[in-house]
Amino acid sequence: CGVFGVFGTPNAASLSYYGLHALQHRGEESSGVCTVDSASGSFAYHRGMGLVKEVFTTDILASLPGDRAIGHVRYSTSGASQLGNAQPLIFKYRDGDLAVATNGNIVNAPSIRRELENMGSIFQTTSDTEVIAHLIARSPKDFVSAAKDALQRIIGGFAFLIMTNERLLVASDPNGLRPLVMGRLGDGYVFASETCAFETIGAEYVRDVQPGELLILDKDGLQEDRFDQGGRRASCAMEYIYFARPDSDINEVNIHTARKQMGRQLAIEAFVDADIVVGVPDSSISAAIGYAEQTGIPYEMGLIKNKYSGRTFIQPSQELREKGVKMKLSAVRKIVQGKRVVMIDDSIVRGTTSLRIVTLLREAGAKEVHVRISSPPFANPCYYGIDTPDRRELIASSKTVEEIREAINADTLYFLSAEGLIDAASVPGNDKGGGMCLACFTNEYPTPVDENSDKSCSC
Ligand code: 5GP
Ligand code: SF4
Ligand code: MG
Repeated sequence: CGVFGVFGTPNAASLSYYGLHALQHRGEESSGVCTVDSASGSFAYHRGMGLVKEVFTTDILASLPGDRAIGHVRYSTSGASQLGNAQPLIFKYRDGDLAVATNGNIVNAPSIRRELENMGSIFQTTSDTEVIAHLIARSPKDFVSAAKDALQRIIGGFAFLIMTNERLLVASDPNGLRPLVMGRLGDGYVFASETCAFETIGAEYVRDVQPGELLILDKDGLQEDRFDQGGRRASCAMEYIYFARPDSDINEVNIHTARKQMGRQLAIEAFVDADIVVGVPDSSISAAIGYAEQTGIPYEMGLIKNKYSGRTFIQPSQELREKGVKMKLSAVRKIVQGKRVVMIDDSIVRGTTSLRIVTLLREAGAKEVHVRISSPPFANPCYYGIDTPDRRELIASSKTVEEIREAINADTLYFLSAEGLIDAASVPGNDKGGGMCLACFTNEYPTPVDENSDKSCSC
């Protein structure tokens, strides 16, 4: 998912519209914006299923007055694709209105939810984000202390924007798993999952929100606080590999540059003599350019993406996902015919995409197809909000590299090493993960998890 926030800038709804549009790649299922007019403290909101440009019209934006806002674009996993779970979630509580937008997943949401339900709470949604609202609302303490307590109880990877009639709270989990950046626009502040949203609205990047940090914005301005000392920084590696937009920076590392370096590293680790290098659009183009630069093998446009289809992975069911791949990519016959092709992709998760693309290239006449993946084998589920619900669906959890090669019908197959990935991304942080979470590759999770922990991100 993607989150966007505005504090202290007029026309917060329109700014959110543009910011969320820039974050659309992070979720195509639903979009929403909630605004507050700081003069009156009044709330307004609109949410709908679909893309930002489908959900919002000029009239709807005009009905959302205010200089403060939080917004959200969502992708869900398993079945919970419904308007009721569209964010921001909105509540009435003791002191007024409360809106919450999250990117990420709360690992211990089911157990907190059960506990709250046993004490009489009635949940409105199936979204794990709702537990934070209940924890805050039930607390007898003042709002900020209640929010701190709530943030301390939850385990997982999350970026939170929480807005009331008086203030905006901004928080990042103790490992900084999910990206969240702060910027300035005029006299106000803006927040976003990725810096690309700032470029769109002309805001100036200030810094990344730090692991365990809690920012409090109210009529007195910005107060920098924390709810946790911050454990090891573990920024999601998949953001660098696949999820984030190439023009974004996370922890001041540019995504395109990091991917290109992954491609170079892949060439160093697994050179193969070939005629052309082809990247799977869009997410693997940067890595393919790096592979081509390092080897001197020309980069070619051997695959074309139909720009009217969305991200295949984000389609909730396997059947839709498979149709999605076919609608999405075509091979350029005159380019690949008779050629030895190195095909670069960012990851193999279920294996559906890779088999399909290798087949496309062969059907278009490629003589050899050598697959190079710019990440290690994805063998473990994510508990922190990236859609990989079930270990059994991960091809690398049950198959060796040779078996995967066979399953996707490649001539050769190689995955980037974890060390190579750490070197290539060069994220600040010198612990063994190199500042990143690599759990889906290494099975070393930065927080407590077990197989029963909540994986189905509903943000
Ligand atoms: P698969 O191997 O499951 O058929 O598809 C892998 C493709 O889906 C990759 O090329 C990549 O672009 C995209 N993808 C890979 N990993 C993830 C992930 O963790 N989350 C999402 N949303 N997409 C992914
Ligand atoms: Fe990202 Fe993988 Fe860690 Fe999930 S387990 S947060 S996908 S690196
Ligand atoms: Mg891809």
